[in-house]
Amino acid sequence: MIVIDDLAGWSSLRDEWQSAGYSVGFVPTMGALHEGHLSLVNRSLVENDRTVVSILVNPTQFDEQGDLEAYPRDLERDTLLLERAGVHVVLAPDPEAIYRDGYRYRVTEKDRSRSLEGAHRPGHFDGVLTVVLKLLHIVQPDRAYFGEKDWQQLELVRGMADALFLDTEIIGCPIVREADGLAMSSRNVRLDAGARARAAEFASVLQAGGSAEQVRSRLEGLGIDVDYVEMLDGRLLAAVRIGGVRLIDNVPA
Ligand code: AMP
Repeated sequence: MIVIDDLAGWSSLRDEWQSAGYSVGFVPTMGALHEGHLSLVNRSLVENDRTVVSILVNPTQFDEQGDLEAYPRDLERDTLLLERAGVHVVLAPDPEAIYRDGYRYRVTEKDRSRSLEGAHRPGHFDGVLTVVLKLLHIVQPDRAYFGEKDWQQLELVRGMADALFLDTEIIGCPIVREADGLAMSSRNVRLDAGARARAAEFASVLQAGGSAEQVRSRLEGLGIDVDYVEMLDGRLLAAVRIGGVRLIDNVPA
């Protein structure tokens, strides 16, 4: 496995792979990896000759400076996990290299990015779509893998790939959960023991189902601070704040 932080170095390796005729799978991440990320990686390894994983805490998708600063980072542990999994390249560029335009250009979706996460995190999806478009152009993968954990993100990335005639196939992968049902997330490490127990309750209330109003009132009854609970396209989606940590999840309705 090679860890690459300079884009020129990556570009020449990409050319070599192109000449060799390798198919390339890509998994974009913000690091602090867990089994959820590794499920995407493993699927890419099965479906492609070569797999690239990017690790970049993307500043433009954070609407709160404190959340960006508190985001867990552990490149050494991440690279160890990816090497063990059999990944070929880890791309870990500086944000400045990715935003060589000085953050002047961005992708905006004007409709579906404005609800749910977008309504609570202004500019979040502009940041996500911009970095994903840049990374897809840099990596030029045949397939890119995204988790259903970030359901709205997956839908918006699919929409962007279609709208902008991208060659990459966008593949959605199921949510990986802890034994007690909590969706795995890099942010879970920031939950203390009490908050961790309430986070599991959040997952079980959501999985028990019901109308959006019923789920909201059950969560509020448990003292959980609810950002939203909404039904969309046959999914029940929710975001809450527990112990200062924002958690999202979704289930088939
Ligand atoms: P992140 O590092 O949080 O940006 O996530 C990178 C990718 O991993 C995204 O496509 C996420 O949807 C996906 N992902 C994160 N957590 C999970 C999970 N628990 N199950 C499946 N995919 C996940």
